[in-house]
Amino acid sequence: MICDKCGVEMRYKKDGHSISWICDNCGDAVASSFFEPYETDTTDYHILISTSNKTDIEMLKIVAGVANCNYIEAKKLIEKAPVEVFHGQAVEVKAIKEKLEAASIDFKIEPEFPY
Ligand SMILES: [Zn+2]
Repeated sequence: MICDKCGVEMRYKKDGHSISWICDNCGDAVASSFFEPYETDTTDYHILISTSNKTDIEMLKIVAGVANCNYIEAKKLIEKAPVEVFHGQAVEVKAIKEKLEAASIDFKIEPEFPY
């Protein structure tokens, strides 16, 4: 990063989730947001519920939430396992993954989810 005002190389500074470049010559600073790799990943990931799950009300509740349907539809979905319940980008998929893991629901993500 080169300073707009004086053309010298700026100093890189990382502070938590934000990054900035500072010019030691004139004091100019350029700030930028820092993104985790999964926040900028635009791959379309598919979450599939596995066949090995025991269906209970807790699972119905979570699957209904993830698939955006009612409990009856969620139950039908689970019966069709392995079945896709959600697809989307890494940011959303990561949140759902954590929810499913917390509830001990067996699932897989395609393609392989590296986060
Ligand atoms: Zn400068």
